[in-house]
Amino acid sequence: MKILETIKETKETILRLKGEGKSVGFVPTMGALHEGHLSLLEESISDNDVSVVSIFVNPIQFNNKADLEKYPRTLEDDCNILDDAGCDLVFAPSVDEMYPGKVQEHYDFGDLERVMEGAHRPGHFNGVAVVVKRLFEICIPHRAYFGEKDYQQLRIIQSLVEMENMPVEIIGCPIVREDDGLAMSSRNVRLSAEERKIAPSIYQSLKNIRGQVGNGAVNEVLRSEKEKLNSLPGIKVEYLLIADEDTLETVNTWDETKKLRAFIATFLGEIRLIDNLKV
Ligand code: AMP
Repeated sequence: MKILETIKETKETILRLKGEGKSVGFVPTMGALHEGHLSLLEESISDNDVSVVSIFVNPIQFNNKADLEKYPRTLEDDCNILDDAGCDLVFAPSVDEMYPGKVQEHYDFGDLERVMEGAHRPGHFNGVAVVVKRLFEICIPHRAYFGEKDYQQLRIIQSLVEMENMPVEIIGCPIVREDDGLAMSSRNVRLSAEERKIAPSIYQSLKNIRGQVGNGAVNEVLRSEKEKLNSLPGIKVEYLLIADEDTLETVNTWDETKKLRAFIATFLGEIRLIDNLKV
């Protein structure tokens, strides 16, 4: 497995492989890898001749300075994991390599970014779009893999690719969970033992909502689940809602003509966790 830090070498290597007729799959990550990330890599390996993983903690998508500073960085372990998993190339640039000058781009994703993460983390999706566009220009993949864990991000990337006419197929992959249901996340290692015990309640709550589809008013079901979660120590729900999974428009009725998904963001102590479930 090759590990490259510069844009020039990475682009040249990938252009050469593509020149040999190889298909390229790409998995962008911020490192601190877990089985969720590896599931994307597995998909890429099964679909493509060559799989590239990027590891870059993208500063411009963090709206919270402490979260950026405390984000786990485990590059050496990550590279060992990726090598064992069959990755061909790791692109691990520095911040200066990715952002040699001031970031000027400003994207507008309309209603897709005015809800949930977009509403609660100002600038977050612009930062995501800027880095993903640059990474796509460097890695020039045929296919790129994103987790449904960050469902709104997946929709934003699909929209970005459409807006910019980028020749890459975006593939969404299911959420990988711990045995107790907690969605895997690089931030989970920052939970205390107490918090980690409580964390599966987040998924439990989404499952409770799924079990009540069609029974009782949407807002009443959400209010009751939110109240139960907020009564647990350390939990502070930021949002819990049901939305149309295509438009991300919040719904207030169990509209059977729409594909619905429940979405949650919650603080557990200092750590902000997100999850979602098709209902
Ligand atoms: P991150 O390193 O958090 O930026 O995530 C990199 C990619 O892995 C994103 O497309 C995430 O949606 C995806 N991902 C993160 N956690 C999971 C998970 N538990 N299951 C599936 N995909 C995930």
